[in-house]
Amino acid sequence: MPVSGLGAYDDQNIFARILRGEIPSKKVFEDEFAFAFHDINPQAPVHVLVIPKARFVSLADFSARASQAEIAGFWRAVGAVARDLELEVPGYRILANVGEHAGQEVPHFHVHIFGGRPLGRMLER
Ligand code: 5GP
Repeated sequence: MPVSGLGAYDDQNIFARILRGEIPSKKVFEDEFAFAFHDINPQAPVHVLVIPKARFVSLADFSARASQAEIAGFWRAVGAVARDLELEVPGYRILANVGEHAGQEVPHFHVHIFGGRPLGRMLER
């Protein structure tokens, strides 16, 4: 059973459909563990989403159930995507929304990568 307030994994969620190629996306990276693509509604000049290929609802679910190889492979991919996008200098931000208080909209674990301008404060107060 997935570990999340978001319920069981829904194979019809939008990112599952993107992974199956049923919905187009602007791919920037793909390997055995991860898939990365541009966000449809970018919040910064660069706004890319990195998702695991396997079925995890959120980081809560991923951290509890993913194998060591899946966890290592996924986080290596996050770093590789940022590197490939030449964001390491001058820097970038990663963010993962988990559950209701964070406003997670899509129930397939994803990490946002933001860059391309100074990003300001972490959170609104
Ligand atoms: P969350 O709020 O769940 O952390 O973020 C979901 C993100 O997915 C949002 O930034 C939203 O713009 C993006 N998104 C939603 N639907 C699509 C889609 O069909 N294609 C792409 N590329 N991004 C999407």
